[in-house]
Amino acid sequence: MTYEVTFLDGDGIGPEIAQATRDCIDATGVPIRWHVKEAGIDVYEREGDPLPPHVVDSIRKTKVAIKAPITTPVGTGFRSVNVRLRKELDLYACLRPCKSYAGVNSRYDDIDVVIVRENTEDLYAGIEFEMGSPGAAELIPYLNRLSGKEIPADSGISIKPISVRRSERIVRFAFDYATQTGREKVTAVHKANIMKHTDGLFLSVARRVAEDYPEIAFEDRIVDNMCMQLVQKPELYDVMVLPNLYGDIVSDLCAGLVGGLGVAPGGNIGSGMAVFEATHGSAPKYAGQNKANPTALILSGVMMLRHLGEAAAADRLEQAVASVIREGKDVTFDLKQDRNDPTAAGTKEMAQAIINRME
Ligand code: NAD
Repeated sequence: MTYEVTFLDGDGIGPEIAQATRDCIDATGVPIRWHVKEAGIDVYEREGDPLPPHVVDSIRKTKVAIKAPITTPVGTGFRSVNVRLRKELDLYACLRPCKSYAGVNSRYDDIDVVIVRENTEDLYAGIEFEMGSPGAAELIPYLNRLSGKEIPADSGISIKPISVRRSERIVRFAFDYATQTGREKVTAVHKANIMKHTDGLFLSVARRVAEDYPEIAFEDRIVDNMCMQLVQKPELYDVMVLPNLYGDIVSDLCAGLVGGLGVAPGGNIGSGMAVFEATHGSAPKYAGQNKANPTALILSGVMMLRHLGEAAAADRLEQAVASVIREGKDVTFDLKQDRNDPTAAGTKEMAQAIINRME
């Protein structure tokens, strides 16, 4: 059976690591017909929309995509293509495994945690009112009246909705994932002591859902304490489930525990659809130099193969990546002991070494 998979090339370092990833996945022998699509700044300039409908339609059809990073202009311009994609396809769960690989420079060598981040609501819902806008001018006196508090008139406002239904489905996703992958514990992360009606709701839903999974241990942590604990005792944690904003921050923290963004893969998963992508961005300063580390996107490809049910191919590719990194010879500059090491491999050469290791 040939799988149909949409491939978004991205921008910045995107196209280079995308090619490396496709080559590695093809080398596993799993038959895939790639539907290569473009999104991002160049498409915005050409078509007036950085995420044209035909791109989203392709993913709706193939149900599976792998996506290289896409630049989001800061402050002005279009909204993040990455956030839009997650919302338009309702990819409600962001799955980010963070695992130590021998040979990666890191303060720890035995990390194996998984972040499950809610992807569709919270402060990322995109309900924002610019300071001085008519919306903010209308909202501020209304909120002041309703709350009995005083929001300064020169405030911008971002809204944080957290719902029962979406909290329930993300917590269930975390428990189902833990069950299917033989993991032992789920930790819900929140700030329910302060945000009682949003994070508090998330926590009470998590406690209720946990009762349906008696074989998986459950606990909760306040997000600031969680950050400290992850730095001091990461071995105590297994699967963590978090609302959107904390999930975003804590997944970068966990990427740091395993040696940085260069080795942190991810997947955005909804009902019947999934888009796999690295945690890192488009690293524009390395664009076009055959320098960027392709590992995170290749490991996202490993996750995609598992999602397709191709576990043996996924294992072979992951072992090949681990072996090249462990040996430390054909790796990109950021995986060398000294980042200025002149023997560092290029993106293409590292991918080729991984492919050679699978043969
Ligand atoms: P970034 O992840 O691109 O870069 C952070 C640091 O890590 C930089 O020093 C960068 O050079 C380095 N780095 C990242 N990936 C690397 C790789 N594969 N190999 C070697 N070094 C690597 O984050 P940023 O600089 O904050 O963002 C750049 C752009 O990417 C922004 O426009 C941002 O919006 C976008 N972004 C996109 C995604 C996505 O597509 N999912 C995610 C995060 C950021």
